[in-house]
Amino acid sequence: SDHTLTYPASPDAMDWSTYFPDYVQDSASDDVSPKRLTKDVEVVDIGCGFGGLLMALSPLLPDKLMLGLEIRSQVTAYVQEKIWALRTQNPGGPYQNAACLRANTMKFLPNFFRKGQLSKIFICFPDPHFKARKHKARIISTTLNSEYAYALRPGGIVYTITDVKSLHEWMVEHLDAHPSFERLSKEEEEADECTKVMMTETEEGKKVTRNQGEKFVALFRRLEDPPW
Ligand code: SAM
Repeated sequence: SDHTLTYPASPDAMDWSTYFPDYVQDSASDDVSPKRLTKDVEVVDIGCGFGGLLMALSPLLPDKLMLGLEIRSQVTAYVQEKIWALRTQNPGGPYQNAACLRANTMKFLPNFFRKGQLSKIFICFPDPHFKARKHKARIISTTLNSEYAYALRPGGIVYTITDVKSLHEWMVEHLDAHPSFERLSKEEEEADECTKVMMTETEEGKKVTRNQGEKFVALFRRLEDPPW
């Protein structure tokens, strides 16, 4: 349960050094706590499951630090071990830029990321929570969209995909209704190299392909805040 989850008091208190050891700053790192990285996490996969998207994005976006957030401890441990193995097998190669952390993204997101820190948030095949009284458990909601808007920089993208049509409509409705987001056109969607990866590389996406199911995609751009 959540009671065993630890999370930083603020983004500055988060120690990323064990997640991204290749990116720890050389200078002054001994006397600064937590140790600083040379760059910030920029890409986040919400509910990353077994990490297929991270493994595929890591070589595609080699200069970006990416993080999978997953609530199940054993699944998180599996992804972390897989990343460690890939790093060992590919010294000096990709996978140093990908990591996985156990977290409940419905609760602690602003503890991890500063305003405008992220350029991409992926929400792939989230749990549908079909019953109306369970809708509050959905990972897309008015409140959570405000947290995504906070963490994303203007121009940043929220990527959503699901095989559940009613959930797709729900996500589109809630993101459309939010003043910080605008939906990308189909052409823009297809032109984004991450769209295809998201459609083919997550474990859930592969399952849907095997079952010849349909996939519903929607991308949303974080708009500039209006001048006050
Ligand atoms: N994104 C992966 C994929 O496409 O293969 C996994 C999809 S799976 C259906 C949904 C995942 O979200 C599960 O691994 C679940 O444990 C995780 N999850 C659900 N609620 C979460 C939360 N509040 N915070 C973090 N992860 C969550």
